[in-house]
Amino acid sequence: MNLVLFGPPGAGKGTQAKLLTEKHGLPQLSTGDMLRAAIEAGTPLGLSCKALMAKGELVPDETVIGIIAERYDQPDCKKGAVFDGFPRTVPQAQALDRMLSERRRKIDLVLELKVDDAVLLARVESRIAAGGAVRADDTPETLKHRLEVYYKNTAPLIGFYRGQGKLTTLDGMAPIPEVTAQIDAALGAAKA
Ligand code: AMP
Repeated sequence: MNLVLFGPPGAGKGTQAKLLTEKHGLPQLSTGDMLRAAIEAGTPLGLSCKALMAKGELVPDETVIGIIAERYDQPDCKKGAVFDGFPRTVPQAQALDRMLSERRRKIDLVLELKVDDAVLLARVESRIAAGGAVRADDTPETLKHRLEVYYKNTAPLIGFYRGQGKLTTLDGMAPIPEVTAQIDAALGAAKA
């Protein structure tokens, strides 16, 4: 089973991806995590992406398509994966479809977490107020820019996946266990 978790920055994709991983044994493939690991390791790829990520811009399509293909060919993805934060553009979604069909696989379901901008902003502010370590791109200013990038580049994927009959939209503002229950229901309906 291959799932895509989709939604604006801070919608809770990572949280739900981790829960799906625990429940279904599918690895979480987060391009954001992979890019942050590359920055941490000081690789050329990490260095080339660092400034773009700090500004809340997308890194080039070819970069993320390359790292996803490499990661997907690892043995733990035999039964599929949960894609978290990828694809983020229509060309990435097309590349993902191609990559999967070359491996005789497909995306089974796309889960859209819908959250109002004001709620996302309040979430960032509460993380900062809580005083924990926040990511370089986890500030109200950067969030506003990341949301613009989301609406311009990523939101068109809603129509792309709706056209394929794969999109399920969930209320990402509900408490975490309720969002998880909505995901379980969508997975049950997809299997039926
Ligand atoms: P995330 O952890 O998914 O919020 O991603 C953090 C940052 O990594 C994004 O703001 C982008 O700069 C970059 N990034 C992650 N995934 C992608 C992607 N699929 N396409 C382009 N840039 C990405």
